[in-house]
Amino acid sequence: MGNLLLLSCCAPCSAGVIKKLAKEGKKFSVLFFNPNIAPEEEYQKRLNANKKVCEHFGINFIELPYNHEVWFKAVAEGFESEPERGARCKRCFLYRLRQAAKYAKENGFTEFSSVLGISRYKDLESVNTAAEIAQKEFDIAYDFTNWRKNSGEQEGLKIAKQLNLYIQNYCGCEFSKR
Ligand code: SF4
Repeated sequence: MGNLLLLSCCAPCSAGVIKKLAKEGKKFSVLFFNPNIAPEEEYQKRLNANKKVCEHFGINFIELPYNHEVWFKAVAEGFESEPERGARCKRCFLYRLRQAAKYAKENGFTEFSSVLGISRYKDLESVNTAAEIAQKEFDIAYDFTNWRKNSGEQEGLKIAKQLNLYIQNYCGCEFSKR
């Protein structure tokens, strides 16, 4: 039986997928690796909301250390004025997906996936391109399911509202606030 690691950015983006996979009896864990989020209080809000979704559906939740400065140097420095969906975002997807692939490979998962492209505001093609690179680099398969199908995004938002969870109004980094 496979064992999937699902990289999540937040509760509203992941809740619908978590519900669906749990219902199907899929063996999986949720990984929260989002050092892109600023400021740290915002990170904590999204972390807690995502944790609650996993608790609600009885799914294992894994948090990796948060370090926004390291993310900034690796991803955003020199790309501050890029628009959303531009080069900084492509680098941001790759940064997080690489870490997810590495974690999956080192911790007995058979595949990994993510909900980074579930929102219609996101460029799914950029997410998939980054996933292709990460799966090759770490020699672990990425599940390219398009989670947008069957109203994945709307379903997640509905669950987040039902559970009375925090719902953010910007992507994550300081540049997405403007
Ligand atoms: S806008 Fe979102 S995807 Fe783009 S760099 Fe910022 S946090 Fe990452």
